[in-house]
Amino acid sequence: TQDGPEAREIASVIPYFPFKGIPRFYDIAGFLSRPAVFQRIVSIFAARYSPLSIDAVAGMDARGFVLGPPIALALGKPFLMVRKAGKMPNAIRSPPYECEYGKREGMCLQRDAVKPGERVLIIDDLVATGGTLSAGIECVRMLGGVVVECACVVELRMFVDPPEGSGLPNRTKLFGE
Ligand code: 5GP
Repeated sequence: TQDGPEAREIASVIPYFPFKGIPRFYDIAGFLSRPAVFQRIVSIFAARYSPLSIDAVAGMDARGFVLGPPIALALGKPFLMVRKAGKMPNAIRSPPYECEYGKREGMCLQRDAVKPGERVLIIDDLVATGGTLSAGIECVRMLGGVVVECACVVELRMFVDPPEGSGLPNRTKLFGE
């Protein structure tokens, strides 16, 4: 990448995983197994977000639970888990959503995780269609929170702005770019 580690140090590409319809799976074990690269990634995120007013960092189940906590610690802010359905008590659930792998039940957030008006940064490892992040945004908004930004290490460009009427979330509209 322009100001960070090389792409091949971040993720390796596994063909046809987790099923045949997915031509490329990006395995982030690449950066997890390289502490210097992992540290560099966390530093890049911390540098971007420390000047912004952020009350909490939310990580998407499951790889956002790996990347989110070191970023939250670097910023000195609480970490929140946005979990897949059925894993957490006393939680709200976003409506069902579509992602790269198909239809999913909603994502969940504990009712007291976000207070109205709190500013939340959402972290995941990778964005493909944006469906998973949309569900995370929905959860934060259901509790009255404000999503400052969503941040990932890898963006699958083929999913940027799917055609109108495809049923997939439009990322430009979603993030107001
Ligand atoms: P989306 O909802 O944007 O279609 O898919 C992104 C979600 O699925 C993220 O939570 C991400 O962890 C997972 N995902 C989709 N494709 C890949 C991939 O190639 N590699 C990894 N590590 N995760 C993926």
